[in-house]
Amino acid sequence: MRGGTEDGGDPFPCASSPEGCADPAPPPRPDVPSPVSARDFCRNVGYLCADLTQHAEIQLRRWHPIGRAMVVHVPLPDIDDPTAARNLQRAAAQGIRAWNNQPFPLLADLRGDRNPDFGIRWTASMGGSQIGLARIRWSEMDGLGVDYLELGIVSADGQRAWADPNQIRLAAAHEMGHALGLGHSDSDRDVMYPTNTATSVSARDRRSMEVLYKTPDGTLIQR
Ligand SMILES: [Zn+2]
Repeated sequence: MRGGTEDGGDPFPCASSPEGCADPAPPPRPDVPSPVSARDFCRNVGYLCADLTQHAEIQLRRWHPIGRAMVVHVPLPDIDDPTAARNLQRAAAQGIRAWNNQPFPLLADLRGDRNPDFGIRWTASMGGSQIGLARIRWSEMDGLGVDYLELGIVSADGQRAWADPNQIRLAAAHEMGHALGLGHSDSDRDVMYPTNTATSVSARDRRSMEVLYKTPDGTLIQR
């Protein structure tokens, strides 16, 4: 029923409210950060400027603050070897957690009952030697978001039935680095190097992430 006063409320709430009943204003667009020059920005920033060797400018893209733990669903891979499945799941969760508190607290959700921000998809084979992939998106308004991270469950080199859990741990850490906004490193000791040559997330990986989250989202770095 419209316009009644049975509930004892104000029959003309719009008239008595100073704002009236207009739709609330849309949220303001975020400020576009000013471009910075590589000469000013690129000192002691890890490998955030590494792509400037190939591009005249690069844009830093990251998550906006979420104010809580980020939840990543890490399901069991659907294979008929329960021990191997558990080992792969555990390895992927370890790789995700390598970025815990950098910058968000991270929860690897193994059961899928925590309303995840995104999850891992296991794929039989990703082709060639590829074992991981991050499907990410970015907008000025919302910052970075992730559709899913993909990991291969079949050994990329054909030497064993299933992927090596240590390789999966490193691939998960690498793809999680992309999910948080990092590009590739130019040093094979960093987990963000394009191939799996690191042994863990390095001090330079952490430094790059730290600077990324201290820099306004969308900042252009120009050569
Ligand atoms: Zn990569």
